Amino acid sequence: MIIVMRSGASAREVGAVVDRIQHLGFRAHLSQGEERTIIGVIGDERPLDPGMFEQMEGVERTVPILRPFKLASRDFHPSDSVFTVNGARGHVKIGGSQLCIMAGPCAVESRQQILEIAHAVKEAGAHMLRGGAFKPRTSPYAFQGLGLRGLELLAEARDETGLPVVTEVMAPEAVSMVAQYADMLQIGTRNMQNFALLQAVGKANVPVLLKRGMMSTIEELLMSAEYILANGNPRVVLCERGIRSFERYTRNTLDINAIPSLKQLTHLPVIADPSQATGKWDLVAPVSRACIAAGADGLIIEVHSHPEEALSDQSQQIRPEVFSQLMADLRALAGPLGRTL
Ligand code: PEP
Ligand code: MN
Repeated sequence: MIIVMRSGASAREVGAVVDRIQHLGFRAHLSQGEERTIIGVIGDERPLDPGMFEQMEGVERTVPILRPFKLASRDFHPSDSVFTVNGARGHVKIGGSQLCIMAGPCAVESRQQILEIAHAVKEAGAHMLRGGAFKPRTSPYAFQGLGLRGLELLAEARDETGLPVVTEVMAPEAVSMVAQYADMLQIGTRNMQNFALLQAVGKANVPVLLKRGMMSTIEELLMSAEYILANGNPRVVLCERGIRSFERYTRNTLDINAIPSLKQLTHLPVIADPSQATGKWDLVAPVSRACIAAGADGLIIEVHSHPEEALSDQSQQIRPEVFSQLMADLRALAGPLGRTL
């Protein structure tokens, strides 16, 4: 249930409602809107009598939340959430009218590689730098990433370009280490339901990019986001990166429906990953444009100066020139859609 306070309700009135919620053995989650405070009642699924709150001073109404995800739901937080990601120099915003484009290689491979690509994507107008230091590979014999050295190189690229860094964390015990270097933690598709990992990033003080499991439903994605939110981290960005289907021409099937569906169901920002979705570099630009047209708040795109020499995902990484042209196309598209880039 959520309790909507009247606009102008006093701190004392809000406090009394919170006290009653806690007294009943639930947790209260406050969301301070521009106009009014909304209080989420979090806990088990016991039915609560709305009458207990509706008579209290300052309470406007109660709304039952019937969906299994609560903190993530739009009922709880009707307006779009906008988060800041802190970088070396200033911060970037995700959500709201401004689009956020994250770009960089699939994996950090060397100092020269990451610095060259970081400067190129910055030049083209990217807002954040991506790059894997810990790579979840299907084969144990494939390149696994540079690990800690990769994180150090990402931090160096961030310091040189000012671009905040997003990178994947694969294990709960690695969260605090990765968070020392990264400005945003990525949970990959294969870990979307690694609940220990979700709890660990929920306790971190860094925003999280949560990718949809390749075999997960929209509701399961939102339940995974709920784990992070319920553990105390409000800054969760969702990412549609394609799901498995019978189609083999593309690497995955981008679920374009997921973008407006998620925007209806949740206040959290939603971005898309056309690189993992298509697996083909020459499909990345058209699918990127489609995602933005469908309402995505941003994109995460793999860019490599020499894709043919890349140590992972060779066929889907685009060259800096292609990325630069895509940014120009997105800029032209943003205006008519009421967005800025
Ligand atoms: C990636 O972004 O490089 C990646 C491995 O993504 P996903 O988890 O979506 O496959
Ligand atoms: Mn990749």
